[in-house]
Order: sequence, then C-alpha cells, then structure tokens
Amino acid sequence: MNIPFSPPDITEDDITAVANTLRSGWITTGPECKMFEKELSLPWMSGYRVAVLNSATAAMEIVLRILGIGFGDEVITSVYTYAATVNVIRHVGATPVLVDVIEGGYNLSHLAVERAITSRTKVIIPVDIGGYPCDYAALYDVVESKKDLFTGLPRSRLFHHADRVVILADAAHSLGARIGEAMSGSLADFSAFSFHAVKNLTTAEGGALSFTHLFGVSTEDIYREVMLWSLHGQDKDALTKAAKGSWEYDVLFSGYKCNMTDIAAALGRSQLRRYHQTLEQRRKIYANYRLALPSPLLIAPWDVDDTYHSSFHLAIMQIPGISEEGRNQFIRTMAMSGVACNVHFKPIILLQAFVDLGYQQLDFPQAFNRYKESISLPIYTQMQKQEQEYVIDKLCENYKNYS
Ligand SMILES: *Cc1c(COP(=O)(O)O)cnc(C)c1O
Repeated sequence: MNIPFSPPDITEDDITAVANTLRSGWITTGPECKMFEKELSLPWMSGYRVAVLNSATAAMEIVLRILGIGFGDEVITSVYTYAATVNVIRHVGATPVLVDVIEGGYNLSHLAVERAITSRTKVIIPVDIGGYPCDYAALYDVVESKKDLFTGLPRSRLFHHADRVVILADAAHSLGARIGEAMSGSLADFSAFSFHAVKNLTTAEGGALSFTHLFGVSTEDIYREVMLWSLHGQDKDALTKAAKGSWEYDVLFSGYKCNMTDIAAALGRSQLRRYHQTLEQRRKIYANYRLALPSPLLIAPWDVDDTYHSSFHLAIMQIPGISEEGRNQFIRTMAMSGVACNVHFKPIILLQAFVDLGYQQLDFPQAFNRYKESISLPIYTQMQKQEQEYVIDKLCENYKNYS
C-alpha cells in the first residue's frame, strides 16, 4: 500500500468554484477575497476581523511591521516551530529570542517566556503546534505581570498607546481549534493562519490574519493598515482603481506585495463550506490512532483536556526513550512499507540559518526530547479505514522489532 503524508483534499466543487472565478472577469483581490474574509470571521467572537493574504508568513511579518518592530527590539518565540516564525522576526531587523516548550508538550512554555521577557521585548509569538492551542491565559498573565518593563511601540504609525507586550499567535495549524468556546483566531491580539497546500484548509498558497481593536486603535483602522502593507502602501487596491475615472492613487510608504487572489479565495471559500466536516474526519483518524496504538506509544497531546480542542492538523506519535537515530530508522522502515511519515519540527537551532543565534541544545532540554522521540503520522481527510489499519499494523510491527 502507498500511504501519503498529507495530500490536499480537492473536490469537484472546489474546481468549479475556481473555474467560475477564472470565467468571471475578475481574478485578483476582489469580491471573493472580501467574502472569504467575512466567512472566516463568522465563528469568532464578534469584533474580530480578518484580512486574507498570500501566506501566514506575510501575515506575521505585516503584524511586526504595523507594530513598528525593528532593530533593538526582541521578539520571543518557540524553538519548536517552522523557520517562518523566526525568519519574519529577522526580516524586520529584530532579535529572535527562543524559548523551550512545556514539560511533556510541544507548545512554548509560559514560564520560559516569563524568564525571557526584558525591557526590549515587544512581541511574543506562540505556536499552536499540530493545531493544539497554547495556554493563552497563562501567556497574558505573564505579559500583565511584566507590564512595568514595557517601554512602548515608538516606531508604530498606529499604536502609540500600547502599554504591554503584544501576543501574535502563529495559528498556521489551528484553524477551527478552540479553548472552551473561544476559537483560535480570537485567542491572541493577532492570529496568523496558513492555507498552504499541506494545511487543513488550502488555497494552494495563502494565509489570513485575524485581529480586533487594540490599544485604542479601531479594527477598521488596523484592517486598512494591513491592506496598505499588503499592496506596496498603495492607497487604492486594484478593484477600486478599476472603477472608471478612478485611476489616481498615492503610495504612502514602501509596503510589501502579498495580497491574496480571488482565484485562491474562491478555493478557500469552497473548502471552508465543508470545513466542519474536515475537522470531524481528522478528529476520527486522530482518535483511531489514539485507541489503536499499544502502550507506550502515545499520540500528542497526551493530557487531553475538556476545554482544549485541537484542529487535528498533526498526529504526532511519541516513542518514549528512542534515540534520534532509532527514530530516523523507524521512519525509513515505515517508508519501505509505503508509509510516509514526517517530523514536526526539527528545533530551529539545528538549521544552518539559525546557528549564529548562539544557542545550544542544552538551552532547550524539553524541545530536544520531543524532537528525538516524535514521528508525525499520515492524517488526511480522504484516508480510508483500511489505509489507517495498514499504517497502524506497520507501526506495531516496527515497534515490536525496535523493542
Ligand atoms: C506552514 C507554517 C507556517 C507558514 O505558513 P505559510 O502560509 O507557508 O507562510 C508558519 N508556521 C508554522 C508552524 C507552519 O507550519
């Protein structure tokens, strides 16, 4: 059998939606994007607004830009994430400060964040690994308790009255996740979602930013600033400019070019219409793994809680006590049986680009333990029962051989 890791789920309805947009006469940012923004924000608490962009990376970088983050500022994030989270901090010229994950888990530790906050800290970027939300209440408590250290956002065009560190969620994995009734997207000051091809909901490439009013700045003012940053700082988007007689525009500052196209938004809207079903399909696959794997194999998170609900983006299996080489061999053996597995994530400091940050493995004992013992298992909506049974059989067989 051949079991892929996470192929995209594209239906005939998705294809029709894209084709209709191609035939409509308007293909870049326009009505589809605006509808997609409205529909994405529906499940969130009122007052939250969404801006769609071409990636989660762009969403995070724009947040740092509108906050005026730059040289001399520190941004705290997890050592256990994808490179995008750290790259955006460097792109704006700020210093990434990396912290370890919680004991036994994959999300960053609020205690480590507390120790890392200095008077230079402006933003914290927690990452909802695998779609499991971070403990935002604990993070906000830490931010409140360190308020006296905070010195403002002096370079921001908008946020002159900021009185504490800002929390920007890397919610690339967690669309549809929630803590109690509060959905991911309304758990932090800003939340960045990814619609990259491997994510739960895809527009091939794409992302979205959600936010609400902050430090006296209205949601609409923030939205306008995000839109400016997404299109060269130009004060009229393509659709507005396309109106007859409306040719003239100004460029207010040198922004980026990272707007979403209507083609992508049409695909996203079509995917969103069945997203509740997507979550349910993923939850079932995840639950099957949990039930079927023999002790001591575990599926993260192990301490399932009534209030924390994942979006089941990843099914991370842990093999307690295995070495890194043993884990790699395990993945190779699975591959020989036709099963694609993965590792999420290689701690950032093992990547060449981040060696110069000057950290050592010993700084992150929890993250390195998770890393060496973890294997991400195939999880996708189209996965058939017999396919999953095959994966589970192979996992059990390999585990027996290993131990
Ligand atoms: C995929 C991913 C991103 C980047 O998303 P893009 O839409 O590709 O920019 C950021 N953070 C994490 C944790 C991711 O997995």
